[in-house]
Parts: sequence; structure tokens; C-alpha cells
Amino acid sequence: MFDVNQIRKDFPMLNGKKMQGHPLIYLDNGATTLKPQVVIESVCDYLTNYSGNAHRGDYDLSHEVDEHYEQSREIVRQFINAKRKEEIVFTSGSTDSLNMIAYGYGLTHLKANDEILITVAEHASNTLPWFDVARLTGATVHYINLDETGRLTLENVQKAVTEKTKIIAVAEVTNVLGYQAPMKDICQFAHERGIVVVVDGAQSVPHQVTDVQDTDIDFLAFSGHKMCGPTGIGVMYGKYDLLKDMKPTRLGGGANSRYNSCGVVTLKDPPYRFEAGTPHIEGAIGLATAMQYLMKIGMNDIHEYEQELRQYCIQKMLQLDNVQVYNPHSMGAIAFNIKGVFSQDAASLFNSYGIAIRAGQHCAKILDEFLKVSTTLRASFYFYNTKEEIDAFIEVCKKGDDFLD
Ligand code: PLP
Repeated sequence: MFDVNQIRKDFPMLNGKKMQGHPLIYLDNGATTLKPQVVIESVCDYLTNYSGNAHRGDYDLSHEVDEHYEQSREIVRQFINAKRKEEIVFTSGSTDSLNMIAYGYGLTHLKANDEILITVAEHASNTLPWFDVARLTGATVHYINLDETGRLTLENVQKAVTEKTKIIAVAEVTNVLGYQAPMKDICQFAHERGIVVVVDGAQSVPHQVTDVQDTDIDFLAFSGHKMCGPTGIGVMYGKYDLLKDMKPTRLGGGANSRYNSCGVVTLKDPPYRFEAGTPHIEGAIGLATAMQYLMKIGMNDIHEYEQELRQYCIQKMLQLDNVQVYNPHSMGAIAFNIKGVFSQDAASLFNSYGIAIRAGQHCAKILDEFLKVSTTLRASFYFYNTKEEIDAFIEVCKKGDDFLD
């Protein structure tokens, strides 16, 4: 049974942390999430009790680290239902994963005049690497039109694809508009044409069941810190054959099986060829603990509860004349403005009541072409938020009018 009050006890920051003298109401979960005690303890346990290096030693402590690190990879595999644990590459986060895919796969597989499809709703991390790889290869970046509500639809993907399209790189849930893309349909359509699908899962993997086999995603990127895990750890999932056919963007210790003085290098098989250098061991362990924690609560229950919270909030916001909501059917963040109030001024008003929300462009700097406003406020929830917190948030929305006096 999903019991939010019980869940809140797991998060130290929800039990005593104050902002501006008020109990913290944290509604910036799209940026990063709070950490439960079990994750904090698993990281501390590594640092305190077995902090050796991974894949390097021939002594018991080193084997103990290897076991934890590789077990973490297996837990990630289970969480996204990958076929093999070798398809899970630990990275520093979504940005790192997307760069690895763009430079490691895109750079070697794209040629002049090939087309990469993205949308204007993508995060900078799923835009800028493709701009650069296009420049380097002579390929071009094209945009799949969003529908009038801001959604990515299969129909618009079908219209945008040409015989030159080689890669479609889109977020499963976008970080401002929060709409869910029909990923399974997109993958099916793309694969019938030999197009590779790269999915930015930063805002979807933390909030819903992810099944890469069922969806048939080729590459998936996500971040640990947006799902109760530590910062500096993330995942690049890739189908094994694609990973085998992809270049690592960093080389060094741990990624090669041999090399000689003539410069002949034999790389290890995936995932190790992509993990040169000492990995973020406690990050991987902390992420796996976070995933176990989420799976114990149940990703379906988390998704359902968050949908209920979001609907509750949006319904209340739509009743306020002074609030403009840009994405009333969002499955993720709520993008809004207090009418006539600059978003950063409004965010500081929320701050003065202990409420953390984000203001600005949210790293999606070409979305204003669609939204027709330069900046917005963004409220984003996680399963530990409550209706009482939303009520407090709504009361401050009403006070936004104070700026207009
Ligand atoms: N993609 C999306 C959709 C995001 O929301 C974010 C972060 O906000 C990123 C990518 C980048 O994530 P990170 O900063 O963890 O690398």
C-alpha cells in the first residue's frame, strides 16, 4: 500500500529542513531529487567499510568492491529490463551518456547529408551534441514538429522522416512540457526504416516502469540523481550489437585488454571499453540502492500517485485567473507563469514561503519558439510530495498578484 507519510520518513530532508524559516516544500524534482536514508547509508558503507578500487586488485577487498559494483550493474539491468547486464554502461549522468552516444556512435555512423531528428523541446544535453556531430560529419539536424499542445506524435515523426534520416534522438518525457512520447510506436516505425532511436530518459526513467526490450529502444540515457541516487552517476544503455559497433569517447585504464608500443590497442568488450578510469563506485552502488528502494515501493504505484498529485495541482491552478498553465495534460513537470510577473521574481516569492521551484528556460532554450514566452516557472513532483504541499503552493500562486500592486 502506497503510504506517502511513511515514505516521507525515509528522507532526512523532509524531516526538519527549512527554507526561509518554513519547512521545505521541494517541487524542483525535475532538477534533482532528495535522497532516502538507505541511499545515504549505502554510499557511506562503501566509503567506510570497503572503499577499494574496482576491477584492479587481486585481494579480497578488491573482489568485494567488484562484487558490489557488478551487482549494481545487474540491478540497473533489472530496473530497465535490459537483456544483458553488459548493455549497462555507468556514466556521470544523462549529459555524459548522450554525449557518448552522439560522439561514439553518431560521429562514426553519420555521413554528409544524413539527417538527425530532434524536437525544439529537447534539453540542451540532447541538442548541442547533435549540432556538433552534424557539423563534424556534414549531417543535418531537423526538427520533428510538436503538435499544437506540445506533444511529440507518431504522425509528426512519420512526416519528418525521410530516406536520409539515420537517427531520431528525443526525450521520452520532456523536461518543461512533460509530455510522454509514444516511444514504442516511434521505435517500431524507425526500425522498419533502419533508423536508430536514442531516448533521453532523464525525466521518464525515475517516474515510470521502463522496459527497453518491450519498447525496443536502441540507446537510453538517464541520471541517478533524478531518481533518489547520488549525483555524478548515470547510465547509458545500448543494445549490445550497437555498443560493440561504437567507439568509446574516452580511453585509458580498464577499457583495454592490451596495447603495444606501436599504438595497436585492443579494447575490452562492452561495457568496460566505455568505462575507462576509476569509475564512480559509490555512485553506482548508491544508484542501485535507489533503484531497489524505488522497486520496493513499486514504479507503477509511484507513477499512479504522481499522476494523481499532478492532476490535483493542475485542476487548482486552472481555477486561478492570475496563473497561466502551458501544459495542462502534462505527465511530468507543470510549466506556468504568474501573469504579468517575471518568472524569477515569482520564484523568489515561492522561496520566501519555503517552496523550491525552478524559473527560467530550464536548459531547453529553443522551446520559446514553441511556447512564445522567454521564461517559465516549473513545478515538478516526486512520490514524496503531498496534496498539503500543493495546497501551500497554490496559496502562494494566489499571492503572485502582490507583485502587481
Ligand atoms: N535531459 C533532460 C530531459 C533533463 O531534464 C536533464 C536534466 O535536467 C538532462 C537531460 C541532463 O541531466 P544531467 O544534468 O543529470 O546530465
